[in-house]
Amino acid sequence: MVTKTALQVWPIPAFDDNYIWCIHDGQSALVVDPGDAGPVIAFLQKEALTLTGILITHHHADHTGGIVSLLSYAESSIDKVVPVYGPATESIPGRTHALMEGDAVEFTAPAIEFSVFEVPGHTLGHIAYFADGLAPKLFCGDTLFASGCGRLFEGTPTQMTLSLAKFAALPPETAVYCTHEYTLSNIRFALAVEPNNADLIAWSKHAHALREANTPTLPTTIAHERRVNPFMRSDQPDVIEAALRESGAPALPSDAHVLAAIRAWKDRF
Ligand code: ZN
Ligand code: FE
Repeated sequence: MVTKTALQVWPIPAFDDNYIWCIHDGQSALVVDPGDAGPVIAFLQKEALTLTGILITHHHADHTGGIVSLLSYAESSIDKVVPVYGPATESIPGRTHALMEGDAVEFTAPAIEFSVFEVPGHTLGHIAYFADGLAPKLFCGDTLFASGCGRLFEGTPTQMTLSLAKFAALPPETAVYCTHEYTLSNIRFALAVEPNNADLIAWSKHAHALREANTPTLPTTIAHERRVNPFMRSDQPDVIEAALRESGAPALPSDAHVLAAIRAWKDRF
């Protein structure tokens, strides 16, 4: 007999640097942004888990490419239609539940409830899933990365600033499950923005040690990102000064202007 365990969240590595997060209780499992079905199926089989739901944050192929194969795997192995949750305003293969800001998503197995945030910026319809409680969790897709943020493929700097502000308002201890291992290159840039940030210098050492041991640098936390992530620090004097210097702009009148300057700098870094 399989014993149910407390809720666990595991990274399933995919492609070069994606993490497909698996939330499970020892029996039932949800996966977030399965860009590739192969590694997910291998993980489910190894851990003897039954897939009960798929959560999607945005339409990019490295987050959605495995949905169709996972659905046929689930249908043939457990003869069940697995629900696929995703943003209402993007095209998501197999989507059964179209989500908008404030929607609640509740699962009984594993037992977890999410509220949905709309976080445009990386894509226009991008959503994030937040589970409140004793150990709050955020599945943020490509909006927030450890020490960085997603590229603005579809949205504006103002949208991204507001999206990151939603995250900044979450409980500081919230564990943040980002979908790419971009941390070391993000830290290299963050240090160019804030070379004197002591928290960032300490984090850089720790993150390098983690990667040398082939350990994920994730999850991160909201509190940590507020200390080391330049994209969540566009109100800080050192960040504003660096943004002014690099952009050559005479003034950066809002947080969104600062974020725009930092994002443009990172894009050519
Ligand atoms: Zn993406
Ligand atoms: Fe991605």
